[in-house]
Amino acid sequence: MTLQTDIDNAAAQLKGKSPQEVLAWALGNYEKISLASSFGAEDVALIDMIAKIKPDAHVFSLDTGRLNGETYEVIAKVQQKYPQLQLRIMFPQAEAVEQMVSTKGINLFYDSVENRKQCCYVRKVEPLGLATQGLDAWITGLRRDQTANRLTMETVELDGDRQIAKINPLIDWSNEQVWEYIHQNDVPYNALHDQNFPSIGCAPCTRAIQAGEDLRAGRWWWEMSNQECGLHVTSDGRLVRAKG
Ligand code: SF4
Repeated sequence: MTLQTDIDNAAAQLKGKSPQEVLAWALGNYEKISLASSFGAEDVALIDMIAKIKPDAHVFSLDTGRLNGETYEVIAKVQQKYPQLQLRIMFPQAEAVEQMVSTKGINLFYDSVENRKQCCYVRKVEPLGLATQGLDAWITGLRRDQTANRLTMETVELDGDRQIAKINPLIDWSNEQVWEYIHQNDVPYNALHDQNFPSIGCAPCTRAIQAGEDLRAGRWWWEMSNQECGLHVTSDGRLVRAKG
């Protein structure tokens, strides 16, 4: 049986299941599995769910070197509340960052899409590649209604570039369901969410949104058309998804 067939079968079996049921299945089914966390609302909800199923589960996070102070504060709170969690913080290669900022400037991302993609590649995509090396599956906090690009995503998908499973337990959840879970379970969350930051990335590339704006409108707002950072995009530019 191919990996794709396995994943298709799992996706059919998990259709309509709760995030906790999806996580229990994934944590029981895959030995080498880790949550990718940027410590946004979805990720902290998932951390709480995961810690209740497997307190010493693996979580990795990408420290780009340009995160907000509030993000480090929530990381510390999570480490305190879930001490058994095996949290791995990934950093970009120092030489690559040095070379990039010394030739193109510290805030190169504002100058062109090409520069922004280069910065995301050095600070996020490359470390993500290292973090997912050797894994059988990774878990994400993606939700279908976050961007139009995510509409076709499934609970379990094949990550074609890495040839591993990608698990999206919250794919069918709304923003309201995530927040209800956070408040009901007293989960630590990033204080920027209370200042109209629904989506939090690097400090210079994230802003608060206005009422009525898309939830991802605060990311790379100067480009207007691109709210994906490359972490969930295949090497040929498509979103990672099960089929097609
Ligand atoms: S989000 Fe901005 S600062 Fe962060 S890696 Fe991408 S371009 Fe660089």
